[in-house]
Amino acid sequence: MSRCRRCGGEYGPSEPVTVPLRALPTVQVSGISGQKCAGCGDLKYAVPNMEDLFRVVAGLLVQKPERLSGAEARFLRKWLGWSGQDTADRLGFTPEHVSRWENDRVPISETADKLLRSLVMAREPIDDYAAWDARLASIAKSDPEPLPLRMVLKGRTWARAASAPEG
Ligand SMILES: [Zn+2]
Repeated sequence: MSRCRRCGGEYGPSEPVTVPLRALPTVQVSGISGQKCAGCGDLKYAVPNMEDLFRVVAGLLVQKPERLSGAEARFLRKWLGWSGQDTADRLGFTPEHVSRWENDRVPISETADKLLRSLVMAREPIDDYAAWDARLASIAKSDPEPLPLRMVLKGRTWARAASAPEG
């Protein structure tokens, strides 16, 4: 049994936990178990099948009607496996510009938003191109607003929980 690295305390028994996803804290991850340090409350947990979780979250983000938030744009950019510099080089933005929208200093443009989502979609088989074309016409018009998501582990795969948390 390992001890807490912060305070040296002992971890309690395994219990169900809900935690924000480190890569995108507006996503709550549930259906997993963790252990709490009796000393400082530090929570130790593992997220199984992270690859599937990221893929499902990316698939939900590309469909949201509102403009991507900075953190969501960063999540999708990393999901593509691109650095900020890669994004700048490949899409023709400056690295500073990419950094500004990812840090919410300026909203991502409608064009950049749609381009990013289309690149993510291109990595997954698209079963209905007409539906995607229609969706492209209607998304990303509004100001950036993060999509609160609650993801739950079912067996080995991740799915969106029936209701998302408020805020
Ligand atoms: Zn501790």
